[in-house]
Amino acid sequence: KQLWHHAEEHTPNARARDYTQAIMDLGAMVCTRSRPKCDACPLQSGCTAHAEGEATLYPGSKPKKAKPEKTTWMVILEDSDGRILLERRPPSGIWGGLWSLPELDPALGPDELQETCERQLGLNCGDPELISGFRHTFSHYHLHIQPARLSVHNAAHNAPHNTQRVADDDHLSWFHRDEALALGLPAPIRSLLTQPEQTALL
Ligand code: SF4
Repeated sequence: KQLWHHAEEHTPNARARDYTQAIMDLGAMVCTRSRPKCDACPLQSGCTAHAEGEATLYPGSKPKKAKPEKTTWMVILEDSDGRILLERRPPSGIWGGLWSLPELDPALGPDELQETCERQLGLNCGDPELISGFRHTFSHYHLHIQPARLSVHNAAHNAPHNTQRVADDDHLSWFHRDEALALGLPAPIRSLLTQPEQTALL
């Protein structure tokens, strides 16, 4: 904003086109970013950066924007046959169209995970076992992933599908671990399924 104000203040009413061209030439040939040629510069007498011996410090680098931080629960739901429930992500966005672990509202407490899985997915789960959380960085934000493992005993009586294929559809499906790993999972999900020993905080 300040720069625009400065530019408007200095742009002459007459020969504005010549002035603009001259400023661009000056930036391209004389006052360059890393090696300004102050000795050849027609603006030297009014240049504060030159007077203070700081000509090479301008323009400074842009301050880096801090990435937003997000949090999610990821649940490893494993049935008695060793199959894991995966959820297909929406076609666009992060990990678009890939199978991943089901996610739950980060506002839930650990003691609400079991009930939430039962209610949302119609599963009969055991107590959650919390696994070491970690941070994954995307281009626009950091995601804190808090994984939890729950054993699935059988389908709740109101489940839409039978015990072995609970919630199986286009978006939710059970996979043996080796089948899951062959799907091309996102890297953090893959390491969660291949390094289960990284576990047990709670
Ligand atoms: S005198 Fe100032 S405007 Fe001219 S080249 Fe040096 S730093 Fe740039």
